[in-house]
Amino acid sequence: MFSYLVFEFRIFIMGLLTNPDEYFMNEALKLAQKAFDEDEVPIGAVIVIDNQIIAKAHNLVERLHDPTAHAEMQAITQACNYFSAKYLPDCTIYITLEPCTMCATAIFWAQIAKLIFGAYDDKLGFTKHKNILYPKTIYEGGVMESECSALIKNFFKGKR
Ligand SMILES: [Zn+2]
Repeated sequence: MFSYLVFEFRIFIMGLLTNPDEYFMNEALKLAQKAFDEDEVPIGAVIVIDNQIIAKAHNLVERLHDPTAHAEMQAITQACNYFSAKYLPDCTIYITLEPCTMCATAIFWAQIAKLIFGAYDDKLGFTKHKNILYPKTIYEGGVMESECSALIKNFFKGKR
């Protein structure tokens, strides 16, 4: 019994020590892995409010035959449905890859407070352009960058 309690306590403390950004990025990575397993370009996204995930999605371009079905587009739709609202001003979105300009613009329209992404996209990432995010949105890239980019590199390695 005592060892069980010690074990539970350790899990609890580990939870406190885990960086929340890494915790949620890891959740997005699990979705990216799911996309990988379904032969979709492996990108995942979660939307969080008050440390709670309210939307989770991965890329669905192949399955839906829809070039706009990026992970973050799906997640934004889910989160807006969750709130029955068109703005998400108290939310943070975690995406395993730097959003493209389409998705950055969707993040603009949704007025999301914070954007955290993993790997940088040197070709299509929005940071290559002048700031197109909503003025109040803050962003940070490079969270769990190596894990996020390894999954994408592995995917395309298998394609060539
Ligand atoms: Zn996109």
